[in-house]
Amino acid sequence: MILTPHLLIGAAIGSRLPSYGGVFALSIILHYLLDALPHREYQIENLKNGLNKKFVIDGLKVAVDFFFGLGLVIWLTHNRPDFSFVMTGALSAALPDFLIFLFWRFDGKLLRALDRFHHQVHRPKNKKTPLWLGILTQITAGLIALFILYL
Ligand SMILES: [Zn+2]
Repeated sequence: MILTPHLLIGAAIGSRLPSYGGVFALSIILHYLLDALPHREYQIENLKNGLNKKFVIDGLKVAVDFFFGLGLVIWLTHNRPDFSFVMTGALSAALPDFLIFLFWRFDGKLLRALDRFHHQVHRPKNKKTPLWLGILTQITAGLIALFILYL
């Protein structure tokens, strides 16, 4: 999934679980579960290669997605007493995708193992998912997160 629904679901977990460790673990588990659902996402393959125009374009897509989702979470929750848990959840939920990027840039045994696991749980053939379904699952995830945040 793209980063915005991941950030929102992580924020929702943070709003319901008064434990930083629990929020961290559950947000990461939910990241992998959401990735197993049918969804469509923008291409970021060029981030694997060195710094060039395509790398910058893909990097901008990720940055817009990340800062939109993070800004939304901050805007919606900044004055809540559980804000630190909400932010822990949001950032933890985005972490698995950041680790993929780190693996592409730096390699390493642990990063390689995490990347392999991410690919195993990630729904294969997502490009064949109908666009309406691929968007609907992510909007649904975001709406469920908002429902949990405001329950
Ligand atoms: Zn992912």
